Amino acid sequence: MEGRRIGVYVCHCGLNIAGTVDVEEVAKYAATLPSVVVSRDYHYMCSDPGQALIKDDIKECGINRVVVASCSPRMHELTFRNACQDGGLNPYLLEHTNIREHCSWVHEDKAAATEKAKALVRAAVKRVYYHEPLEVKEAPVNPNVLVVGGGIAGMQAALDIANGEHQVYLVEREPSIGGHMIQLDRTFPTLDCSECILTPKMAEVGHHPFIELLAYSEVEEVSGSIGQFKVKVRKKARYIDESKCVGCGVCEEKCPWKVPSEFEMGLAMRKAIYIPFAQAIPNVVTIDKDLCVYIQSGGKKCGACIKFCEANAVTPETLLNQSDQIVELEVGSIIVATGYDQFDPSVVPQYGYKKYDNVLTGLEFERITCAAGPTGGKILLKDGTEPENVAIIHCVGSRDQNYHEYCSRVCCMYGLKYAYLIKELTGADVYEFYIDMRCFGEGFEEFYKRISEEGIKFIRGKVAKVTDVAITEEEKGKLIVVAEDTLLGSMVRVPVDMVILCAALESRSDADKVASLFGLNRRADGFFLARHVKLDPVATPTDGIFIAGCCEAPRDIPDTVAQAEAAAAKALSLISKGKITLEAAVATVDEAQCQGCGRCEEICTFHAPKVISKNGVMVSTINETLCKGCGACAVACPTGAISIRHFTQEEILAQVGALIEV
Ligand SMILES: Cc1cc2nc3c(=O)[nH]c(=O)nc-3n(C[C@H](O)[C@H](O)[C@H](O)COP(=O)(O)OP(=O)(O)OC[C@H]3O[C@@H](n4cnc5c(N)ncnc54)[C@H](O)[C@@H]3O)c2cc1C
Repeated sequence: MEGRRIGVYVCHCGLNIAGTVDVEEVAKYAATLPSVVVSRDYHYMCSDPGQALIKDDIKECGINRVVVASCSPRMHELTFRNACQDGGLNPYLLEHTNIREHCSWVHEDKAAATEKAKALVRAAVKRVYYHEPLEVKEAPVNPNVLVVGGGIAGMQAALDIANGEHQVYLVEREPSIGGHMIQLDRTFPTLDCSECILTPKMAEVGHHPFIELLAYSEVEEVSGSIGQFKVKVRKKARYIDESKCVGCGVCEEKCPWKVPSEFEMGLAMRKAIYIPFAQAIPNVVTIDKDLCVYIQSGGKKCGACIKFCEANAVTPETLLNQSDQIVELEVGSIIVATGYDQFDPSVVPQYGYKKYDNVLTGLEFERITCAAGPTGGKILLKDGTEPENVAIIHCVGSRDQNYHEYCSRVCCMYGLKYAYLIKELTGADVYEFYIDMRCFGEGFEEFYKRISEEGIKFIRGKVAKVTDVAITEEEKGKLIVVAEDTLLGSMVRVPVDMVILCAALESRSDADKVASLFGLNRRADGFFLARHVKLDPVATPTDGIFIAGCCEAPRDIPDTVAQAEAAAAKALSLISKGKITLEAAVATVDEAQCQGCGRCEEICTFHAPKVISKNGVMVSTINETLCKGCGACAVACPTGAISIRHFTQEEILAQVGALIEV
């Protein structure tokens, strides 16, 4: 270990560190440590002049190991690795210690914080002493991209990438793409028809030469890593010949078996053989196996669809013998755009959802106002009459400690949209019960102002309950909304015919499964966690996997589109670079100690270790393209045969030993 010449660089980070830590004293102390030949402090080490100090010292003072004491390595480790490399030093001869988040930001006592910073620097110096240069390798990037979820987010991302003439596989779980947006009637704040603006995009996706649409399909397995993912997709059987179906709808008309339609939120029925909505893409029928009497009776009963299908797309063969297919794909990056679920308000019993006929959710109301919906666009009560008064309740399941504490960001605006539509289509009195009106987007405040001038009654306060127990003559036969009006400081009872609940947007019920499939993390509120909420909002902890749209957080359509475009840009930049730099600090196996037990294979979520036979002896080998250097295999290895480069026992013990030195 001869010839170690260590340079130490202590950052003030303005007053972020220097406000609590005596930075000059830490630098002076570092200068006294063994092998340290240069020790400096600087206002902002990450700035160009700060980095120049390191580069110059490498060249002029011959330093061959660098310690930077500053912010979190998550922020600037790469910056300083690059500075070392620019100075002519292997980038892995750097040790970055965190005296901001781990020290100055969490302490108040300056003397104690300074002592702790000294200890952290001492430990870093001890550790960097044992650092060895690591070889940085590169691997090619497969230019194909997988997009999961065919809502507006997934479609936009797929189109952006495909328009750059790169192959996209778009996997959608439902029989058609469109997501929630295709269920909406008009969209705030411009009130343009959702279908009219979405269906051209859906058609473009359906016909794009660079998009292979795998609808009615789900991803089952993902292996590999950035640049080289292998994906298995289950293409569910539709029990028809898709290449022959022309979507004429005759089979659907003749099919006698019905269930409530998922697309119509249960407000209309669909058949056992169905197209979920008129403009579905792909425009082919799907057979609900559990409802199809022909399939369930093994071909003994019904068969109406076979009889009436002139295109010969439905046959005894397709109905009885078709099965799911597994499609294998190879892609370089993945965009997850699986969207949201609407909160189920029946878990808030006081609002009477499912108890009273005329208490609806937002998505149910969207279907009612839609001209193609179950009432032909007429706002009607269950008895077929028009409402004379309607209450719209905001924040149902959102901003509520019992359910979701977050704001769902779209409910105020869609609540206002409903007020406008109800007034316009029925002339009914409308009451908006809100906690705070959040109209933050472009044109939103103006829309709110316009609605306020249309005679809508705004009541600020949380609704206590919706009941049909009348206490006055006027309340008889009505739903009574009981709330506190916090501006008046009194309780109010408002009798209405219809109640619309602005239910929260929440993470999908299967978000856990999707998260573990794609190596995503979930936040406390259930949505997928971005790598850095401010600086890397569409990347995830797994390199090469991006997130877009409402699977990351509730948001409106313009924000969803912008985020999808950001995710597409990330995938495109990966494609245009064509190669990735592999992590050099990866696992390595001492074959003499390895017993080939396979614990490493079992524990690794990246499938990097593999036990193979070498000259008849079973030993583990590491695929360095897949290894992320997380260390799980090293911990699990019973013989200590696996270590992680840059995190060797020698390095870690030296670091810990220095920390407990007094
Ligand atoms: C009642 C209501 C009214 C609204 N009104 C407006 C409005 O007027 N204006 C506005 O800007 N915004 C509005 N919004 C918000 C709008 O719905 C969202 O911004 C938009 O739909 C988000 O799109 P997305 O693609 O992220 O998610 P989604 O629309 O949820 O699409 C996700 C897609 O992924 C698919 N999927 C899910 N899981 C998987 C899986 N594992 N594998 C494959 N596919 C999967 C789903 O089937 C779906 O097709 C409203 C929301 C609600 C609830």
